[in-house]
Parts: sequence; C-alpha cells; structure tokens
Amino acid sequence: MKTKRCDVAIIGSGFGGAGCAYALSRAGLDVIVIERGGYVARDDEDWDPKEILIDKRYKSDVAMEIDQREGKAPSLDYPNEVVGGNSIFYGGAALRMRERDFDTWPLSYADFEPYYDAAEALQEVRGQAGADPFEPPRNVEYPRPPNALTPAAARIASAARALEMKPFRIPIAIDFEGAGAREACISCFTCDGFPCKLGAKNDTQVILERADAGHLEILAQTVAGRLQEEDGRIAKLCCQPRGGGEPLEIEAETFIVAGGAVQSPAILLRSGLQRFDRSKLIGRNLMRHCNGMVGGVFPFRVNPEGKNHKQICLSDLYEDRREEHGRAVGVIQDMCMPPKDAVRYLAPDGFRTAAATFSSFIQALICIAEDRPRRVNQVTLGDERDVYGLERLRIIHRYAKEDYERRALLVGRARELLREAGAVITKLREVDSFSHAVGSVRFGEDSEAAPLDLHCRLHGLSNLYVVDGSFFPSSAGVNPSLTILANALRVSEQIVSTL
Ligand SMILES: Cc1cc2nc3c(=O)[nH]c(=O)nc-3n(C[C@H](O)[C@H](O)[C@H](O)COP(=O)(O)OP(=O)(O)OC[C@H]3O[C@@H](n4cnc5c(N)ncnc54)[C@H](O)[C@@H]3O)c2cc1C
Ligand code: SF4
Repeated sequence: MKTKRCDVAIIGSGFGGAGCAYALSRAGLDVIVIERGGYVARDDEDWDPKEILIDKRYKSDVAMEIDQREGKAPSLDYPNEVVGGNSIFYGGAALRMRERDFDTWPLSYADFEPYYDAAEALQEVRGQAGADPFEPPRNVEYPRPPNALTPAAARIASAARALEMKPFRIPIAIDFEGAGAREACISCFTCDGFPCKLGAKNDTQVILERADAGHLEILAQTVAGRLQEEDGRIAKLCCQPRGGGEPLEIEAETFIVAGGAVQSPAILLRSGLQRFDRSKLIGRNLMRHCNGMVGGVFPFRVNPEGKNHKQICLSDLYEDRREEHGRAVGVIQDMCMPPKDAVRYLAPDGFRTAAATFSSFIQALICIAEDRPRRVNQVTLGDERDVYGLERLRIIHRYAKEDYERRALLVGRARELLREAGAVITKLREVDSFSHAVGSVRFGEDSEAAPLDLHCRLHGLSNLYVVDGSFFPSSAGVNPSLTILANALRVSEQIVSTL
C-alpha cells in the first residue's frame, strides 16, 4: 500500500474543501485534496442537456438510496462527482445570510461578516448594495458591479415594482469580463445545472487555481474510505482509486471532511466516529430548503435573445413568519427555463409534451423556502456494500407542514408576479433534489447538542474538522454557497493558528 504525508488532508473539493485548500496552502501548509470525481471536460457536451441532465456524464459509480415520499419505496440516485463538487453545476447566486438568520446559530452575523467580505472577493461577486430590503450590514462594496439587465429579467423586475415589491439584483459569481487567461461569460442558456464550458462561472476549480500550487496536491478520482482514530486523534485516511487500483493511505496533522452535507456524515459514520459524538446527531437534521419552481406560460416568446436571466431576487416576504415560525420564509429568484429536451424530461407527468412544445413561452421563478431542522431527517448507512467495500449511504427526509406553508407563501406571490408580467397560466413543480443540502453535522458550543465545536472540529477529537454545508444549524432562506465558503475561510484561520 502506498502512503502519502501532508500537513492537512481534505476530503472533497466543493466550496468547503476548496475554500480550505486555498487558504491553508497560501498559509504555507502542505495540503492534499482527495476528490472522488474527475475534472470536467469543458467541451460542447458540457452544454448538452441530454449529456448532463439525462445521461449524467459525471454521475457517480456508486448509488445512494433516497427515502423521501411517504408510502413509496426508496429510489436510487447517482450524484454528480467532479473536482469542484456541486459548484461546477451551480447557478452562481452568492447571497449572505441575513442578520436574523443567525438568531439560532451559536455565532452572529458580525462574526461571519469579515469572512463574507473575503468570500465575495474570492468569488468576484457582482452585486448592488442597498437595494435588498433585508440585506445585512456591509462594510465593503461588492467586488464587481452587476452586468446589464436582460429583457426577461426586466419583465419580472417591473412586475414586482407594480406589486409594490422591491426587486434587487442577485449577487452573482460569474466572470463577465474574461480577465487574465479566462474567457468571459457569454450569458448562455445552459448555466444552472451545467458545467461552464468556458470556465466563466466562478466555481471552485477557479478557487483551486488561485491556491498556492507549490503547497497543494489534488488527488482526483480517489475515493476516501475510512478515517482511523488513535489516542483521540485521526492518524490516517484510507483511500482507493476510483475504478480500482492500489489503495492509498494518507497521514496528516489535520484532517478536514468536506464531502458535502450528504456524504460527510456517511464518511464519519463509516469510520465509527459516532462513538465520540455525545449529541448523537451525526447525520441528523439534514436540510435542503423547501423549493418549488413556478412556471408561467406567456402569449409570446419570453427570452428570444436566449440569454441567462438569473438576475432578479425578491426578499419582500423574508421576515413575514419569523415570529410565528422562528425562521425565514425565503426568497424568489428569476431563473432560466432549462432547454427544451430537458424540459420534456423534467416537467410533471401529463405536461411533458406540452411543456417542451411551449418551453420558449415559459418563464420560471424559483421559490427557496427555509426548512426546519428535524432529527428524523438524516443520512444513515445501509447494510449493502458498494464496489469499494463501503456501506451504502441512505437518506431519509420528510418536510414539516410549516415548511410547505412558508413555500406556499412564496409560490402564491410568484404566481401573482408572473400574472402581472403577462403570464396566462402558472404551474408549480416541486424541487426534490438535495442540491441545497446542509446541516447534517451541526456546529455548536455544547457537545451534548452538536457534533462540532464552534471551529467545526468534531467534539472529542483534536484534529478532525467538518467544513462544508454540514455545519449549518438552520438552513436560512437564501442559497448556501457563500456561507459555506465564508465558513471555510473562518475555520482555516483557526487551523493555521493551531498548526
Ligand atoms: C444545479 C445546482 C444549482 C445550484 N445553484 C446555487 C446557487 O446559485 N447559489 C448557491 O449558493 N448554491 C447553489 N447550489 C448549491 C451549492 O452548489 C452547494 O450548496 C455547494 O456547492 C455545496 O458545497 P459543499 O462544499 O458543501 O459540498 P459539495 O459541493 O457537495 O462538495 C463535496 C465534494 O466532496 C466529494 N466527495 C464526497 N465524498 C467523497 C469521498 N468519500 N471521497 C472523495 N471525495 C468525496 C464530492 O465528489 C464533491 O466534489 C446549487 C446546487 C446545484 C446542484
Ligand atoms: S451563463 Fe456564462 S457562466 Fe454560465 S455557463 Fe453560460 S457562459 Fe458559463
């Protein structure tokens, strides 16, 4: 068996893993990133809906089992796996959580603010301060101004103003200038859900490129298996090359698990580390937002220019249920309809042909509602073993009634907006993916109430951190990526000080 040694070994290259790799390598620590996916090709097929959404060219060789519908058998899903994780497929929306979202967190917005500044700078976020009615206070301007508003997004903005709402530009992490060797965004139609063929989306491959290459090694196509504990610390990580080959052991001073809120708890459970967790919460309280896409059918082509118009956000209802539910309602965001072939595949039963035929007449709004953390919603392990001899991951998830109530508020307002903008019919499609998964290994002060401490270190182990979407104690009502990255920069600072 081969052995590698480093200062910090990081499992995963999403926002959590890449954020740590960036900060720790630049601090002079020798970092190895272990990532089960390979590199995206950035070729024509990356913008082909059939390749990406239907045939899933980057799908895992290992299934996970998802039990999310009462009375229905669990389904099998093969998640995408690439260097960059979900950031490769994300839509670039980069929002800060609001001040009151931190009411249920052990740290405040003020604790996170400097790291939000740094994360926005790293992501070169484009935005306009002062327009969002619930925007948290900020000391710095957005690194870049917003790009030009498309006609499709302008239609939603003016309908919102007619309804006395306050539309604002979605802060977005996309490069419209093509600085340096990069190509500029061409505002195409296959952004959300697709890799960027041009590399203009500020995904975490871009962050990894900005790390100190002399202190960073990325082991792509390498599956992290079990972590081995000795005397209250992790001594080594056992890995296997994807698709077979000689196993590998990694020894490090510090280990960071950043496999995402679905995979990270599974890695901890497979390693038997629940024996250190007095809260008994590893894997529990999995959240993913309660999302729905509302499509409006218009009597004209909504986006004849074929431009990406994910540009407008509405947070007007954000605080409307705070006192009653103790959490945010969430936001509505303009988004592109997927291309025709994908619409046929994604539309609800009975609407597939009609939706595909009329897709160019449909404009959609996504409603992102906060969901409640519930113990019953969890990542566990099944009895079956995968090709790497690892226990199969199993998700059990049910929304609470009040999650649907908050989403219904957003859906009702989204329908009004689309009608005001000229839609003649509106239709809701529930989003049942785990694309916004957070919260399965929460952080907190008290080891009886949270597996991680305030620095995201597993209570009871001196050198193991979990740094990805898992640490969220609540999901808030905005997209999670910027908070995951900000937290990675925060935790990295702590790791540097201890090493
Ligand atoms: C289509 C889509 C659109 C989205 N749009 C937005 C948006 O506009 N704004 C926003 O804020 N958020 C968006 N999100 C959500 C956002 O992408 C995620 O919240 C974020 O990327 C999660 O980062 P992470 O570091 O927690 O984990 P991940 O991105 O899941 O990264 C984890 C990485 O670890 C690797 N890994 C897991 N297990 C192992 C193992 N055993 N061995 C080796 N490697 C392993 C995985 O392959 C993966 O690369 C979107 C997501 C999707 C799918
Ligand atoms: S919209 Fe821009 S960033 Fe997104 S995939 Fe197209 S070119 Fe890339």
